[in-house]
Amino acid sequence: MPTLGQTRGIAVSHFKAPPKKNLGQHFLTDAGIVEHILHVLDPKPGDVLVEIGPGQGAITFPILKRHGSLTVIEFDRDLITPLSEAAHGIGELTIVHKDVLQVDFDRLAGDNRIRLVGNLPYNISTPILFHVLEHCRQVRDMHFMLQKEVVERMAAGPGSKIYGRLSVMLQAVCDVIPLFDVPPHCFNPPPKVNSAVVRLVPREAGERGIRDSIRFEAVVRDAFSQRRKTLRNALAKQCTAQQLEDAGIRPDARAEQVPVEDFIRLANRLHGD
Ligand code: SAM
Repeated sequence: MPTLGQTRGIAVSHFKAPPKKNLGQHFLTDAGIVEHILHVLDPKPGDVLVEIGPGQGAITFPILKRHGSLTVIEFDRDLITPLSEAAHGIGELTIVHKDVLQVDFDRLAGDNRIRLVGNLPYNISTPILFHVLEHCRQVRDMHFMLQKEVVERMAAGPGSKIYGRLSVMLQAVCDVIPLFDVPPHCFNPPPKVNSAVVRLVPREAGERGIRDSIRFEAVVRDAFSQRRKTLRNALAKQCTAQQLEDAGIRPDARAEQVPVEDFIRLANRLHGD
């Protein structure tokens, strides 16, 4: 993946608020990175855009200028009024003052298919990803800034040490496309880790092939709960060794060796048993 932000662009600031560590606030300060996010997002007329965690508006206002409307979800009450005031004369900014983990994206979307974007708070990025996954019927795509290490886990394939529950759960329903890396100096305060922007494109429900998502989740969770165990042992509560074999999976394999489609096939065969 290319690393951007090698040369510092002009600092982006729409208003100043001291960053809060407990809310994972690392504000983007590199105009070149913001421009690149806009470039990969490529908003088209009629798109319904929703940003998670607008912060001081580094991504918000460039999107608003270009697109004319945007909904943002922000938890920090101190940012709500400054965001609203800064939007005057730029475009139609709808602010949802809420914890994103409490947002029902299906309801928020209504009849639209929304496009999500955000430099996510890294302290809760995995819960946000799982929450959005549950509500991704109305989501057309997502462009998220995350810790690079998380993006690598999301996109990892079988046979890799970092292939795990997150990789399988996401890849079962989305195309996961890492786009570019972003170094710490592009944020204020700089995070301790490198970051990366990833695109997630949910597949249509019919294309996913998962018959029972609760069973699928349980199988994947148990399979990876003790990575060193063979599947015969790790999945003892879910199925027999014979059922694994019938699904085309070796009982002495470990979860990290099993492709996503094999987990889907196994869960589908167990569905209704
Ligand atoms: N988009 C801004 C930027 O790029 O400069 C800020 C990104 S900062 C990494 C994460 C943002 O998410 C902050 O504005 C923070 O207040 C917000 N946030 C943190 N936890 C949240 C939650 N549970 N629900 C909604 N927003 C949250």
